Amino acid sequence: MRIARVSVPDLDGPVFGVINGQQIGLLKGHPFGELEPAGVALDLDDVKILSPVLPSKVVCVGKNYADHAKEMGGEVPAEPVIFIKPNTTVIGEGEPIVCPPQSENVHHEAELAIVISHLCKNVSVERAGEVILGYTIANDVTARDIQHRDGQWTRAKSFDTFCPLGPWIETELDPSNLDISCEVNGEVRQSGNTHDMVRGAHEMVAFISSVMTLLPGDVILTGTPAGVGPIVHGDEVVVTIEGIGALANPVVLR
Ligand code: ZN
Repeated sequence: MRIARVSVPDLDGPVFGVINGQQIGLLKGHPFGELEPAGVALDLDDVKILSPVLPSKVVCVGKNYADHAKEMGGEVPAEPVIFIKPNTTVIGEGEPIVCPPQSENVHHEAELAIVISHLCKNVSVERAGEVILGYTIANDVTARDIQHRDGQWTRAKSFDTFCPLGPWIETELDPSNLDISCEVNGEVRQSGNTHDMVRGAHEMVAFISSVMTLLPGDVILTGTPAGVGPIVHGDEVVVTIEGIGALANPVVLR
Protein backbone atom coordinates (compact mmCIF):
# COMPACT_ATOMS: atom_id res chain seq x y z
CA MET A 1 0.00 0.00 0.00
CA ARG A 2 1.20 3.50 -0.85
CA ILE A 3 0.33 6.25 1.63
CA ALA A 4 0.80 9.87 0.60
CA ARG A 5 0.16 13.25 2.22
CA VAL A 6 -1.40 15.71 -0.16
CA SER A 7 -2.97 19.11 -0.35
CA VAL A 8 -6.34 19.30 -2.05
CA PRO A 9 -7.60 22.60 -3.53
CA ASP A 10 -10.92 22.74 -1.63
CA LEU A 11 -9.68 21.47 1.74
CA ASP A 12 -8.13 23.63 4.42
CA GLY A 13 -5.14 21.48 5.35
CA PRO A 14 -3.11 18.55 4.05
CA VAL A 15 -4.69 15.10 4.22
CA PHE A 16 -3.37 11.56 3.99
CA GLY A 17 -4.54 9.13 1.36
CA VAL A 18 -3.93 5.71 -0.15
CA ILE A 19 -2.76 5.69 -3.76
CA ASN A 20 -4.45 3.27 -6.10
CA GLY A 21 -3.24 3.63 -9.70
CA GLN A 22 -4.09 7.18 -10.82
CA GLN A 23 -6.43 7.71 -7.87
CA ILE A 24 -5.94 8.58 -4.24
CA GLY A 25 -8.49 7.50 -1.63
CA LEU A 26 -8.45 10.06 1.17
CA LEU A 27 -8.17 9.00 4.82
CA LYS A 28 -9.71 10.48 7.94
CA GLY A 29 -7.00 11.64 10.33
CA HIS A 30 -3.51 10.16 10.23
CA PRO A 31 -2.18 6.78 9.04
CA PHE A 32 -0.54 5.79 12.37
CA GLY A 33 -2.93 3.12 13.59
CA GLU A 34 -6.15 1.86 12.03
CA LEU A 35 -6.74 3.45 8.61
CA GLU A 36 -10.13 5.13 8.27
CA PRO A 37 -11.17 5.80 4.66
CA ALA A 38 -12.96 9.12 4.20
CA GLY A 39 -14.98 7.76 1.27
CA VAL A 40 -13.53 10.29 -1.19
CA ALA A 41 -11.32 9.35 -4.15
CA LEU A 42 -9.56 11.97 -6.27
CA ASP A 43 -7.45 11.90 -9.39
CA LEU A 44 -3.75 12.16 -8.51
CA ASP A 45 -3.43 15.02 -11.02
CA ASP A 46 -5.87 17.08 -8.93
CA VAL A 47 -3.81 17.00 -5.71
CA LYS A 48 -0.33 18.17 -4.79
CA ILE A 49 1.91 15.55 -3.19
CA LEU A 50 3.66 16.81 -0.05
CA SER A 51 6.38 15.21 2.06
CA PRO A 52 4.69 12.00 3.29
CA VAL A 53 5.16 12.90 6.97
CA LEU A 54 6.08 15.84 9.17
CA PRO A 55 8.51 14.08 11.52
CA SER A 56 9.38 15.27 15.02
CA LYS A 57 12.94 14.32 14.10
CA VAL A 58 14.97 12.80 11.26
CA VAL A 59 17.62 10.47 12.64
CA CYS A 60 20.41 9.57 10.22
CA VAL A 61 23.03 6.84 10.13
CA GLY A 62 26.48 7.86 8.91
CA LYS A 63 28.82 5.57 6.96
CA ASN A 64 26.43 2.64 6.69
CA TYR A 65 27.72 1.46 3.30
CA ALA A 66 31.38 0.37 3.25
CA ASP A 67 32.04 1.87 -0.21
CA HIS A 68 30.78 5.31 0.91
CA ALA A 69 32.76 5.16 4.18
CA LYS A 70 35.83 4.50 2.02
CA GLU A 71 35.19 7.42 -0.36
CA MET A 72 34.86 9.68 2.71
CA GLY A 73 38.32 8.49 3.78
CA GLY A 74 37.26 6.27 6.66
CA GLU A 75 36.22 2.84 7.77
CA VAL A 76 32.78 1.65 8.86
CA PRO A 77 32.64 2.62 12.54
CA ALA A 78 32.55 -0.15 15.18
CA GLU A 79 29.32 1.30 16.56
CA PRO A 80 26.73 3.06 14.37
CA VAL A 81 27.31 6.82 14.14
CA ILE A 82 24.02 8.70 14.21
CA PHE A 83 23.07 12.35 13.82
CA ILE A 84 19.87 14.37 13.52
CA LYS A 85 18.55 16.65 10.83
CA PRO A 86 15.96 19.11 12.14
CA ASN A 87 12.43 18.59 10.84
CA THR A 88 12.62 22.01 9.16
CA THR A 89 14.91 20.41 6.52
CA VAL A 90 12.04 18.30 5.15
CA ILE A 91 10.53 19.09 1.75
CA GLY A 92 8.42 17.01 -0.63
CA GLU A 93 8.58 15.74 -4.18
CA GLY A 94 9.20 18.51 -6.71
CA GLU A 95 10.08 21.20 -4.17
CA PRO A 96 13.43 22.95 -4.72
CA ILE A 97 16.58 22.14 -2.76
CA VAL A 98 17.94 25.60 -1.88
CA CYS A 99 21.75 25.82 -1.79
CA PRO A 100 22.80 28.36 0.85
CA PRO A 101 25.40 31.05 0.06
CA GLN A 102 27.62 29.72 2.91
CA SER A 103 28.52 26.56 0.94
CA GLU A 104 30.26 26.01 -2.37
CA ASN A 105 29.95 22.23 -2.33
CA VAL A 106 26.44 20.90 -1.72
CA HIS A 107 26.16 17.12 -2.23
CA HIS A 108 23.31 14.65 -2.86
CA GLU A 109 23.06 11.46 -0.76
CA ALA A 110 20.47 8.88 -1.89
CA GLU A 111 19.01 7.04 1.10
CA LEU A 112 16.28 4.58 2.05
CA ALA A 113 14.09 6.15 4.77
CA ILE A 114 12.17 4.30 7.47
CA VAL A 115 8.89 5.82 8.72
CA ILE A 116 8.01 4.96 12.34
CA SER A 117 4.39 4.07 13.16
CA HIS A 118 4.27 3.95 16.97
CA LEU A 119 5.74 5.71 19.97
CA CYS A 120 8.48 3.31 21.03
CA LYS A 121 11.62 2.87 23.11
CA ASN A 122 14.07 -0.02 23.43
CA VAL A 123 12.61 -2.02 20.55
CA SER A 124 14.36 -5.34 19.87
CA VAL A 125 15.61 -6.16 16.37
CA GLU A 126 13.06 -8.99 16.27
CA ARG A 127 10.14 -6.63 16.97
CA ALA A 128 11.34 -3.60 14.96
CA GLY A 129 8.94 -4.44 12.11
CA GLU A 130 6.01 -3.77 14.47
CA VAL A 131 6.92 -0.07 14.80
CA ILE A 132 7.66 0.57 11.10
CA LEU A 133 4.82 2.03 9.04
CA GLY A 134 6.80 1.67 5.82
CA TYR A 135 9.60 3.07 3.70
CA THR A 136 10.12 6.12 1.55
CA ILE A 137 12.94 7.80 -0.37
CA ALA A 138 15.22 10.49 1.04
CA ASN A 139 18.03 12.73 -0.12
CA ASP A 140 20.37 13.58 2.78
CA VAL A 141 21.58 16.83 1.20
CA THR A 142 24.90 17.89 2.76
CA ALA A 143 27.13 20.97 2.57
CA ARG A 144 30.31 18.92 2.26
CA ASP A 145 32.74 21.82 2.67
CA ILE A 146 31.04 22.90 5.89
CA GLN A 147 30.95 19.29 7.14
CA HIS A 148 34.74 19.07 6.74
CA ARG A 149 35.37 22.54 8.20
CA ASP A 150 33.18 22.05 11.28
CA GLY A 151 34.42 18.56 12.11
CA GLN A 152 30.86 17.66 13.07
CA TRP A 153 27.75 17.51 11.02
CA THR A 154 24.95 19.62 12.41
CA ARG A 155 25.37 22.80 10.36
CA ALA A 156 26.27 20.95 7.13
CA LYS A 157 23.17 18.74 7.29
CA SER A 158 20.62 21.20 8.68
CA PHE A 159 19.94 23.91 6.10
CA ASP A 160 16.24 24.32 5.26
CA THR A 161 15.24 22.08 2.30
CA PHE A 162 18.15 19.64 2.92
CA CYS A 163 15.86 16.64 3.42
CA PRO A 164 13.70 15.89 0.37
CA LEU A 165 11.37 13.02 1.35
CA GLY A 166 8.78 11.04 -0.59
CA PRO A 167 6.88 10.80 -2.76
CA TRP A 168 4.94 8.30 -0.59
CA ILE A 169 5.31 5.60 2.05
CA GLU A 170 5.35 2.04 0.75
CA THR A 171 4.06 -0.21 3.53
CA GLU A 172 4.65 -3.63 1.94
CA LEU A 173 8.38 -3.77 1.36
CA ASP A 174 11.31 -5.95 2.36
CA PRO A 175 14.09 -3.35 2.78
CA SER A 176 16.98 -5.82 2.63
CA ASN A 177 17.59 -6.09 -1.13
CA LEU A 178 16.54 -2.98 -3.07
CA ASP A 179 18.38 -1.19 -5.86
CA ILE A 180 19.00 2.45 -4.94
CA SER A 181 20.31 5.10 -7.30
CA CYS A 182 20.75 8.83 -7.77
CA GLU A 183 20.74 10.65 -11.08
CA VAL A 184 21.64 14.29 -11.64
CA ASN A 185 20.30 15.70 -14.93
CA GLY A 186 19.84 12.11 -16.14
CA GLU A 187 23.43 11.05 -15.37
CA VAL A 188 23.80 8.19 -12.87
CA ARG A 189 25.89 9.31 -9.89
CA GLN A 190 25.08 6.67 -7.28
CA SER A 191 24.06 3.08 -7.90
CA GLY A 192 23.89 0.59 -5.06
CA ASN A 193 21.74 -1.95 -3.29
CA THR A 194 20.44 -1.95 0.27
CA HIS A 195 21.92 -5.42 0.84
CA ASP A 196 25.27 -3.59 1.09
CA MET A 197 24.12 -1.69 4.19
CA VAL A 198 26.39 -2.55 7.11
CA ARG A 199 23.45 -2.47 9.50
CA GLY A 200 19.95 -3.20 8.26
CA ALA A 201 16.76 -1.23 8.81
CA HIS A 202 15.50 -3.29 11.76
CA GLU A 203 18.90 -3.19 13.44
CA MET A 204 18.97 0.61 13.16
CA VAL A 205 15.46 0.99 14.65
CA ALA A 206 16.62 -1.14 17.61
CA PHE A 207 19.86 0.82 18.01
CA ILE A 208 18.29 4.29 17.77
CA SER A 209 15.35 3.41 20.02
CA SER A 210 17.83 2.25 22.67
CA VAL A 211 18.94 5.90 22.78
CA MET A 212 15.81 8.00 22.20
CA THR A 213 12.05 7.60 22.14
CA LEU A 214 10.74 7.43 18.59
CA LEU A 215 7.38 9.03 17.79
CA PRO A 216 4.83 8.22 15.07
CA GLY A 217 6.04 9.81 11.83
CA ASP A 218 9.68 9.98 12.86
CA VAL A 219 12.05 9.17 10.03
CA ILE A 220 15.32 7.23 10.00
CA LEU A 221 17.72 7.67 7.08
CA THR A 222 19.78 4.52 6.61
CA GLY A 223 22.94 5.86 4.94
CA THR A 224 24.10 6.34 1.37
CA PRO A 225 26.09 4.22 -1.09
CA ALA A 226 29.23 5.52 -2.86
CA GLY A 227 29.11 8.19 -5.55
CA VAL A 228 28.03 11.28 -3.62
CA GLY A 229 28.80 14.47 -5.51
CA PRO A 230 27.93 18.10 -6.08
CA ILE A 231 24.62 19.60 -7.12
CA VAL A 232 24.30 23.17 -8.34
CA HIS A 233 21.69 25.71 -9.38
CA GLY A 234 19.65 24.43 -12.31
CA ASP A 235 20.24 20.72 -11.67
CA GLU A 236 17.51 18.15 -11.19
CA VAL A 237 18.23 15.33 -8.71
CA VAL A 238 16.27 12.09 -8.87
CA VAL A 239 16.66 9.38 -6.24
CA THR A 240 15.11 6.05 -7.20
CA ILE A 241 14.52 3.03 -4.97
CA GLU A 242 13.20 -0.28 -6.26
CA GLY A 243 9.68 -1.00 -5.02
CA ILE A 244 9.01 2.58 -3.95
CA GLY A 245 9.48 4.91 -6.93
CA ALA A 246 11.41 8.09 -7.63
CA LEU A 247 11.90 11.35 -5.75
CA ALA A 248 12.75 14.32 -7.99
CA ASN A 249 13.81 17.78 -6.84
CA PRO A 250 15.20 20.80 -8.69
CA VAL A 251 18.20 22.66 -7.22
CA VAL A 252 18.34 26.43 -6.83
CA LEU A 253 20.83 28.86 -5.31
CA ARG A 254 19.40 31.16 -2.68
ZN1 ZN B 1 23.58 10.48 4.72
